[in-house]
Amino acid sequence: MTNSYVKLCVFCNIALEKIPSEKIFSDEIVFAFKDINPVAKTHLLIIPKKHYSKISEIKDNQTYLLGHIIKIASKLAIKNKISKTGYRLIFNQGKDAGQEVDHLHCHLIGGSKLSSLNQNNNLE
Ligand code: AMP
Ligand code: ZN
Repeated sequence: MTNSYVKLCVFCNIALEKIPSEKIFSDEIVFAFKDINPVAKTHLLIIPKKHYSKISEIKDNQTYLLGHIIKIASKLAIKNKISKTGYRLIFNQGKDAGQEVDHLHCHLIGGSKLSSLNQNNNLE
């Protein structure tokens, strides 16, 4: 998942199935599981199995990874029957976005009406 000098983070351990999660999907590149603290009826996390702490760590020649994450998210949305009603994909990066876990992840959120992006925004 990462080099042996770096301690594995919680999501690395989930991808390795060393920490339990409600697993939804896995392939060679990504792992998907239910968010422990869902904000909507469907709330899944799709993570790369390899550790990247944030989206800006993805190099120009690694962008396939982001496309793959999004494609898997869209397939999981279909599987969860929220593709027609709609859903939101979110990558939080850094403190202003409220990133809590420093392992790149994509939130797939849907199954109920989501708040507008215009709400609760502090533009100062
Ligand atoms: P973020 O704020 O974008 O870093 O989101 C991190 C997400 O990971 C939050 O929605 C948490 O509820 C979720 N989370 C943290 N630990 C776990 C865990 N062990 N299993 C499942 N979800 C988790
Ligand atoms: Zn990690």
